[in-house]
Amino acid sequence: MTIESTHRAQCRAPCGRLVDDDHVEDSDGFGMIVRVDRYSCGCRYIRRDYHDGSIGERSIRHDGKVLPTELRPEQGS
Ligand SMILES: [Zn+2]
Repeated sequence: MTIESTHRAQCRAPCGRLVDDDHVEDSDGFGMIVRVDRYSCGCRYIRRDYHDGSIGERSIRHDGKVLPTELRPEQGS
């Protein structure tokens, strides 16, 4: 397991605001990557890259509303 943490300023949150973001990437070393963004306004964004190349995303707005989740094939192939 590898966990990398980055602090980024002026990121676009799911609600559309420009806020600071704590970005964490967690990899199992076998192709599965989980990325979590915690925005200072309270929004969160979670993205999972699966071993088969598919991607799952979820955005949770600071007011608690879960924005639509989609599972889509890898882009650009
Ligand atoms: Zn927000």
